[in-house]
Amino acid sequence: MASKQPRVAYFCMEYGLDNRFKAYAGGLGILAGDYLKGAKDYNYPIVGIGIKWKQGYTDQLIGPDGQPYDTYHNYQYEFLEDTGVEVPVEIRKREVKCKVWKLDCFGNAPLYLLDTDVPGNDDAWITGQLYGWFGEERIAQEIVLGVGGVRALRALGLDVDVYHFNEGHALFAGFELLREKMDAGKTFEEAWKASREEIVFTTHTPVVQGNESHPIDRLLYMGANMGLTEAQLAELGGDPFNMTVGALRLSRKANAVAKLHGETANQMWDHVEDRSDIVAITNAIHRPTWVDPAMLELAETGGDLWSAHLKNKRDLIKFVKDRTGVELLENNLIIGFSRRAVPYKRSDLIFSKPELIEPWLKSRKVQILFSGRAHPLDDGGKAIAANLVAMSKKYPGAVVFLENYDMSIGAALTRGSDIWLNNPRRPKEASGTSGMKAAMNGVLNLSILDGWWPEACRHGLNGWQFGDGFEHEDETILDAHDRNALYKVLLEEVLPTFYDNRPKWVEMMRASILDTKDYFGVKRMLEEYYELLYAAPGKS
Ligand SMILES: *Cc1c(COP(=O)(O)O)cnc(C)c1O
Repeated sequence: MASKQPRVAYFCMEYGLDNRFKAYAGGLGILAGDYLKGAKDYNYPIVGIGIKWKQGYTDQLIGPDGQPYDTYHNYQYEFLEDTGVEVPVEIRKREVKCKVWKLDCFGNAPLYLLDTDVPGNDDAWITGQLYGWFGEERIAQEIVLGVGGVRALRALGLDVDVYHFNEGHALFAGFELLREKMDAGKTFEEAWKASREEIVFTTHTPVVQGNESHPIDRLLYMGANMGLTEAQLAELGGDPFNMTVGALRLSRKANAVAKLHGETANQMWDHVEDRSDIVAITNAIHRPTWVDPAMLELAETGGDLWSAHLKNKRDLIKFVKDRTGVELLENNLIIGFSRRAVPYKRSDLIFSKPELIEPWLKSRKVQILFSGRAHPLDDGGKAIAANLVAMSKKYPGAVVFLENYDMSIGAALTRGSDIWLNNPRRPKEASGTSGMKAAMNGVLNLSILDGWWPEACRHGLNGWQFGDGFEHEDETILDAHDRNALYKVLLEEVLPTFYDNRPKWVEMMRASILDTKDYFGVKRMLEEYYELLYAAPGKS
């Protein structure tokens, strides 16, 4: 049956498959990794296309001065298989060879990885650092991913029905598909129409600046245009050329990553004429990677969830002690918060009224575990991380910052915390899969109604919302509103339930697991991808 399904090539800059494989920065990569594992588990004809990063993303550590700094290592992996295939791309009018590796040992559908670090390449460093450096280098990386990716598929003899661009980074794959057709004699308009039938696109960020754009001159200079003229480029992506707009015009269907994000994305791109429809397909997680099977089983059988949770909580306490020397108290509440360090996530919201939170921190009845990396070039993000480090010094034993957020920290925190806190400025959080990991482990979400949470939240029954979905353009007003809402729910509902009504807490844990475990698992997400994105129009 699976063989009759459309064959899909999934393009993504990053993949979070395993902590040993340093090819991811954050949520986008985690989604891509979980997707490929789901594709394998449920036997879909999917292959991934990505890049073998020599240095991966930053290892971001905290110096003695409390400031984050970036370190890089050259990684070598024994688990990659050499396909023997090498494909050329042209960048800045020079040929760059891309070696193709295969990776399928993490329970994932085959992932093909392009690598420019081969003898004879002047431009060996293109695949050096994930999201490293500036505009031109980013374009070079995207040419390798997109153009090199299509050429790798051809050279490997892999037939593809649908090209799925996860984010706009892969857009140049679309240009390569256009070029193939135009070389075969089609006009630009004909090639556009035909390529569009093969391409689908997932958009992620509802933050305008997060959507990459480039001057058209730069695309031409780099050779990313694949023969398209300046006017044709402008017709696709505008001028400056917006990668998301280009992908919306080159795809037959697009999706946002949660229902609320679907509304936001449709508004955000409303002005783009002749674009694909954006449907909502809510992200999901690969359960075996993130969820303790004992919690799932005990939730279903009515067994002792609290003891199983305590075991996970002790593992987390040990994990934190080994890394930081701080020993958290197992009988007291642990709040987990790990996020990319960017302003809209408001990691310090909980400290904003010290007179309310300080007594709880000083008595260590509230303990908060933070983690999160900033982009290496983002000094503002680093200041956010540094502020959390400062809080850990101000409230020793109650606030802890774990440096170098990665999959092992993500897994430990979403299993062993009691509460998973999330307080972005609505509606800027596209989805937020960490909350799903927490929910299925019986770690109760305490979250703004943003991303995936409005689809799952039953307030006071399977977790808590705060803010009631309030939105405001003026950030001062929005922050004040949400701050009050956070303290009210935390102090009047969460803490009394945790300390005075353990049976209710455990019932909420059970509801959290049972309400989320199927809908937010990758099986449902893949089914929706096939139904809403991949199925050819008119065919059933
Ligand atoms: C799950 C996970 C993410 C994605 O979580 P968000 O909820 O989108 O923040 C990012 N990074 C790591 C390491 C993760 O484990």
